[in-house]
Amino acid sequence: MKNVRVRYAPSPTGNLHIGNTRTALFNFLFAKHYQGSFIVRIEDTDIARNQEGAIESQFDNLKWLGFEIDESIYNPKNYGPYRQLERLDIYQKYVDKLLAEKHAYRCFCTEEELLTEKELQLAQKIIATKYSQKCKHLTLEQVNEKITQKVPFSVRFAVPNSKTYNFDDIVRGNVSFESSDIGDWVIQKNNKIPTYNFAAAIDDFEMKISHVIRGEEHISNTPKQLMVFEAIKQQPPIFAHLTLIVNENNKKLSKRDGNLDQFISQYKEKGFLPEAMFNFISLLGWSPKGEEEIFDKKTLISIFDESRLSKSPSFFDIKKLVWINFQYMKKMDDTTYVNFVKQFLDKDLSEKPNEFILEIISLFKKELEFGSQINELAQIILNPANTKNQETQDHLKDLEYSKDFISSLHKELSNCEWSPVDIKAVIVKLGKDYSLKGKNLFMTTRIFTTNSFQGPELAKVIYLLGKDFVLNNIKKELK
Ligand code: GLU
Repeated sequence: MKNVRVRYAPSPTGNLHIGNTRTALFNFLFAKHYQGSFIVRIEDTDIARNQEGAIESQFDNLKWLGFEIDESIYNPKNYGPYRQLERLDIYQKYVDKLLAEKHAYRCFCTEEELLTEKELQLAQKIIATKYSQKCKHLTLEQVNEKITQKVPFSVRFAVPNSKTYNFDDIVRGNVSFESSDIGDWVIQKNNKIPTYNFAAAIDDFEMKISHVIRGEEHISNTPKQLMVFEAIKQQPPIFAHLTLIVNENNKKLSKRDGNLDQFISQYKEKGFLPEAMFNFISLLGWSPKGEEEIFDKKTLISIFDESRLSKSPSFFDIKKLVWINFQYMKKMDDTTYVNFVKQFLDKDLSEKPNEFILEIISLFKKELEFGSQINELAQIILNPANTKNQETQDHLKDLEYSKDFISSLHKELSNCEWSPVDIKAVIVKLGKDYSLKGKNLFMTTRIFTTNSFQGPELAKVIYLLGKDFVLNNIKKELK
């Protein structure tokens, strides 16, 4: 495919959400797969919803995830400006052209009039209310008079009568809409700011966008955008509307759902890795051939295939995200791992001596799934169990050991140099002395020294729990 130019077009209304990231990501993979350009365009025409700092946060998070952006407000090329509020004169030119060619007309109706009209239709049981076209029928004199009187006006698109708008969607195949279902919609508000559908279509044309890849909530906007392309006599881009991302109850992810982290920044703060997030999100609504699921960015670019975009909703499976992150954590070398995890320590851990912190972090190298999980795992050292719970006692019943073994354990540990190596040597020696192996040696030792039946490397755990705690524990049993 040649001259691929795609855009991710966020409205700066908040933080970078999983859904938007997925849209950005498929645009990016598609662009890079075909050696095309990935553009970020800021759609800020809904002024009331714009949020301070949202643009910067979008870019910061995209950058963290590893997106390379070819054109944007920060690296403009020939198709700028890349922020819609800076393109008002461009839209004005098209509004004037459409007005002159009767594809659009001025509407002087006030908000109250429009509301009354709508209520009247609703009273007549018309659910899909439409603008009455009252102003479409004003004479030139009437229009000029209102303009002279400075009556505020918006501009409406004159939707053609009984026309079918078709497009061949990459994900859904043929999609069609009847123009009779669409009222004459506003393309420019009375403050001279264009509406989303108009601005997006004009920008997609002016920026030479070849493909529009976006969420399925925009499918009903497509006929309006096609009308604009038709009116300006230009070819529309090719569309791909991505299916929904759903939660475990099969409901569309909603930003209001407080139970699920949905913003990239939340995962970043929890200690998820950008490569893992990128990998996970690439599988939300797209699947490669075969069973493998761990792919770096370069591989994803090379294997991305738009014909494998999913036709059914994709499940936001947090367990899978954790699993993918774990696969990436395991690949880290020791130094990178320690430096990464160190950033996520809670106060009770971060205040400990540096050496102790490092020991704890390394202790969990084989099981840590994401950075901040260290705080939870470290609890077995920071707040160890003082008694054996039922499950631990049940395990103990199945083990073979002697009272002599326990008292030797106490004796040998009291006499040993308190280091993981020496502690390990004690356990090995006692195993030989008492002919104990496997669970009978290690689980028994673990239960009597730590009160729990499972955990990471035993000698290190004993070492970190400290001599007093461990010896006290064993002593309780000997009484
Ligand atoms: N600004 C729109 C949004 O944030 C983008 C729609 C589009 O891609 O056309 O949903």
